[in-house]
Amino acid sequence: MADVLVLRGPEPACGDGRFAPSPTGSLHLGNLRTALLAWLFARSAGGRFQVRVEDLDAARVREHLVAEQLADLAALGLDHDGEIVRQSARTGLYEEALARLERDGLVYRCWCTRAEIRDAASAPHEHLPDGAYHGTCRELTAAQVAEREASGRPPALRLRSRSARERFVDRLRGPVEGVVDDFVVRRNDGAFAYNFAVVIDDAGQAIGEVVRGADLLDCTPRQLWLGRRLGLPRPGFAHVPLMCGAGGERLSKRDGAITLRERLELGQTPQQVRGLLASSVGLAAAGEAPPLDELIARTRDLLHSPVTA
Ligand code: GLU
Repeated sequence: MADVLVLRGPEPACGDGRFAPSPTGSLHLGNLRTALLAWLFARSAGGRFQVRVEDLDAARVREHLVAEQLADLAALGLDHDGEIVRQSARTGLYEEALARLERDGLVYRCWCTRAEIRDAASAPHEHLPDGAYHGTCRELTAAQVAEREASGRPPALRLRSRSARERFVDRLRGPVEGVVDDFVVRRNDGAFAYNFAVVIDDAGQAIGEVVRGADLLDCTPRQLWLGRRLGLPRPGFAHVPLMCGAGGERLSKRDGAITLRERLELGQTPQQVRGLLASSVGLAAAGEAPPLDELIARTRDLLHSPVTA
């Protein structure tokens, strides 16, 4: 059964798009489907398509996966414009943005451990979403700060968001509203956090529409809020449904051949795999493997069909 794409929001002002994989695991069919849709959305709008390697989490990055992921995109025919951008080469930009937020008094240090955050999160709170930070370190007294500094544990840096609310209209999901928690901008190992870097990069790469997996939907209010604080242009968003396995669960190894390489080992061609991805969102019939030009034309028709409530 296909996850048929229904338009529920406006076209972005600019169709330039991107795919931003983290080289921490092989791309599975769900990731590849997101990449295909990001590419089709950009190309059908006549936009540029960029690839950004999100490699800030040095402990989890596996370097050989960078080449593997890029090769997967190329095998599916998803070409890109400009140089591949690596986040690890952009820390100077992140430092500058952080300094600005610090000057604006928006940054504070947080010594909470994961367990402390989990325990605080299990207490009922009115407005914060699951997993959100509850602000323990936001208003520490000088004595409490001194005590934490003396522990020797390095602090993470968080933003004072004052539980702001953000709204946007997602092209595939319609109106979305969410509360912004005091999210981490720099982890206590010094790495810049995803929610921070992604905002600076999407603006720096002049991305008009962010097309990505629906698992990141909860992050978007944070990113919009941060973009506003930094005075950055606001991109459009389209969060694509996550691909599910036969049991309706999130795709996993249990579902058999879920990477491109595994599919090729079964004797399928990249075009067939691309056809499968396209048919899983209603852009192709089951078993059909349309060329990219045809998929672009079908995407254009879909994206220009009237917005459905
Ligand atoms: N690097 C993220 C991931 O692989 C995607 C980030 C994004 O598209 O905003 O899940």
